Amino acid sequence: MLSDLQLATLAELGDEHTADVGDLLYRVGDQRYPFIAIIEGEVAIVDAAGQEIIRHGPSRFLGELNLLSGQTVFVTAVVTQPLRYVAVDRDVMREVLFDDGPLSDLVLSTFIARREALQTVEGLGLQIVGPRSSDATMRMLDFARSNRLPFTWHDELPAEGEAPLVRVPGGAELRAPSRGQVLRAIGIGRELAPREEVDLLVVGGGPAGLGAAVYGASEGLDTLVIESTVLGGQAGSSRRIENYLGFPAGITGTELASRAVTQARKFGSRPATPYRAIALEPGDERHVVRLEEGHEIAARAVLLATGAEYRRLPVDGLHDYEGLSIFYAAGPPEAQLCGASRAGVVGGGNSAGQAAVWLARGGALVTLLHRRADLRETMSDYLVRELERYGVAVRDRSEIAALHGSDGHLEAVTLTSGERVPFSFLFLFLGARPCTDWLGDTVARDENGFILTGSDANADHLLQTSVPGIFAAGDVRSGSTKRCATAVGEGAMAVQFVHEHLRASADVRTPVI
Ligand SMILES: Cc1cc2nc3c(=O)[nH]c(=O)nc-3n(C[C@H](O)[C@H](O)[C@H](O)COP(=O)(O)OP(=O)(O)OC[C@H]3O[C@@H](n4cnc5c(N)ncnc54)[C@H](O)[C@@H]3O)c2cc1C
Repeated sequence: MLSDLQLATLAELGDEHTADVGDLLYRVGDQRYPFIAIIEGEVAIVDAAGQEIIRHGPSRFLGELNLLSGQTVFVTAVVTQPLRYVAVDRDVMREVLFDDGPLSDLVLSTFIARREALQTVEGLGLQIVGPRSSDATMRMLDFARSNRLPFTWHDELPAEGEAPLVRVPGGAELRAPSRGQVLRAIGIGRELAPREEVDLLVVGGGPAGLGAAVYGASEGLDTLVIESTVLGGQAGSSRRIENYLGFPAGITGTELASRAVTQARKFGSRPATPYRAIALEPGDERHVVRLEEGHEIAARAVLLATGAEYRRLPVDGLHDYEGLSIFYAAGPPEAQLCGASRAGVVGGGNSAGQAAVWLARGGALVTLLHRRADLRETMSDYLVRELERYGVAVRDRSEIAALHGSDGHLEAVTLTSGERVPFSFLFLFLGARPCTDWLGDTVARDENGFILTGSDANADHLLQTSVPGIFAAGDVRSGSTKRCATAVGEGAMAVQFVHEHLRASADVRTPVI
């Protein structure tokens, strides 16, 4: 609900209107609509088939995330009681949200909650038609899910043409489209020119990339961020990040990512999705990054922030538990959370051993599960001794086949042997694979493929790679701490080194008279 003061502020920025019962304020497929705050009356939100989803009355406001992203509208707003309302243009609204913290908090968290609710409404948003057996269909479903797009899936062959058929709200039909075509058809996704020239190109739109985007653009660099899937990176997929500074009650990955993207746009950086970098060609004045769909970006400096993919368990329903009772890191909050509970640590490496010891010291009843016959094949001896010392039970040749629990709270797992083992928490240390295959040997990498920086790469700056003007930040960097806050901090810090590099290269080019 908007306060009287907030309604008054909005009234000053927008125009007051009236509408009669049955009038449509916006409808499915519309490209634009203003921010609407209700003074008097009532509006129903209905889906394309006319099913009512919710009604809003006085002091409520309409809209969801598409008002900020520019996405096509998924629902229709129809007046159900004579209406008096304030309409504020979306560009004006964006500005207000940057300046007015409490209003921004209210509107953003409501929009995000509405988007999450819309994702659960059957028959809304994209319609994806294609059979389970079609890889392209399964990839499209995955893409819609990771982009948090409401969609309905029809598990059948399209009447004609290749699968999948994607129907966009408003009627357009796309046959076997690329992910970029879908995003652009619903109004999001920046269309890049075949060649772009920028000061700073950030490859990867996770916390490190977005951190660099905010600091780069706010400090005057023409900054472009390209992201192959969805802005927010791994952090965006976390159910609740508890250890991010400034959010004592925790924050969902979706909200952190949405706020970061809004902030990056506010300062004028340009996030572009979905574009995948496939090659890097270092140059003297500009480095060139080639993208999947044939585009090339020439940048005075490049920040590699492509992160790492944590190996996940190949079991059903994993996502429901991630961030709530299944974690990929064990720090103080997790140790506190697990005190006196049964926790399983999965993995045979030193990181799994350290986590098991740490959790056991925090009072958890810890069992370490690993695949091999003898833990000493993969874990350091001192850690194996520590496991004994702190009472960690070790199960050799153990793999998880299924998870059991509800509402994100784990209760037990079934092993491939068929045995059911009770666990309230699970920690996965199955290794992470850096997203660096596309770099070839253009920059120096460690034996696991992570990018070397600073003295390890014989570079002048802490975050510089073996090639001047190319930097790396976040999880993709060799030796980095795999945490959100560290990734954001490194992204921000990299911008300082970019400035130093650009100043130095300008000095080289300017002849001394
Ligand atoms: C389920 C889960 C929960 C987590 N919870 C926490 C937590 O509670 N607290 C915490 O501190 N940390 C947590 N982490 C770790 C944290 O999310 C990461 O440390 C952080 O996201 C790293 O940020 P990054 O920007 O370096 O990389 P990422 O977040 O991995 O972002 C990299 C981005 O680059 C994109 N990309 C990759 N290759 C290309 C390419 N070729 N072209 C274009 N784009 C590309 C990827 O799609 C991705 O979006 C969690 C991780 C997971 C998986």
